[in-house]
Amino acid sequence: MSDYVLVGVIISEKRSDRSSHDALDRNSPLVFSTRDLGRSPGSMETLNEQVPAPTDVGNALIGIRGGSELDLDLRLEAVHEGILVSGTATAQIAGECGRCLDPIEYDYEADIQELFYYEESEEFEDDDDVDQYWVVGDLIDIDPVLRSAVVTALPFQPVCREDCLGLCNECGINLNDEPEHHHEVLDPRWAALAQLSDNATEDVAQNKTLD
Ligand SMILES: [Zn+2]
Ligand SMILES: [Zn+2]
Repeated sequence: MSDYVLVGVIISEKRSDRSSHDALDRNSPLVFSTRDLGRSPGSMETLNEQVPAPTDVGNALIGIRGGSELDLDLRLEAVHEGILVSGTATAQIAGECGRCLDPIEYDYEADIQELFYYEESEEFEDDDDVDQYWVVGDLIDIDPVLRSAVVTALPFQPVCREDCLGLCNECGINLNDEPEHHHEVLDPRWAALAQLSDNATEDVAQNKTLD
C-alpha cells in the first residue's frame, strides 16, 4: 500500500517538472501554433516558412550559420495523442576544414518526423534518455527537434574534400595549393653519420696543419 502511494508521488513530481521547464516563447521563430488543427485527429496543415536559424547549433568547427535562412517544409497532423510533425528543414551549414582551415559551406536537408504529445496524454515515456516533445497550450517548439536532426548529421572532423592535403607541419603552407611542396629532412641516423664524417674530415685537416 505504501509503495503505491510512493509511485503516485514520483509521477506527480515528474509532471510538475515537465510543465515548469516547458514554457514556450511565442515569439521564437521556431515556435508554432497548432490551434487551427482543433485537436481533431485527422486534421492537417502544411507549414512552409523561411525563418532565421538559431545561432548555436553545432560544434566549434561546424554548424548552422546563425541567422541564415532556415527553410521549413513541414506537415502538421493531429493524431490521437498529439501532433505529428513531418517533413524537412533545410539549413545552411558553415564551418572550416579540420585539415586546411578553408571555409566549408553546404545546405543540409534534415528529415523531421516527431510526435509532439498533448500535455494530458498518458503516453509519456518515464525515461530521461528518451527525448519527448510536448504541445504546450497550443504551441509546439521545433527548435530541439531541428537541433538533434542537424547536430547528429554534422561531421566530427569536417574536411573541405576527402583527399584534402592539409597544411605543411613545418611552415603552415596550404598543401592543396602546392602538392609538391616539401622540406629536405634527413633521416636522423644519416644526420648523425654526416656529423661524424664532418668531424673526421676536420680532424684530418687539423692533423695536416699540425704536420
Ligand atoms: Zn581542407
Ligand atoms: Zn612547408
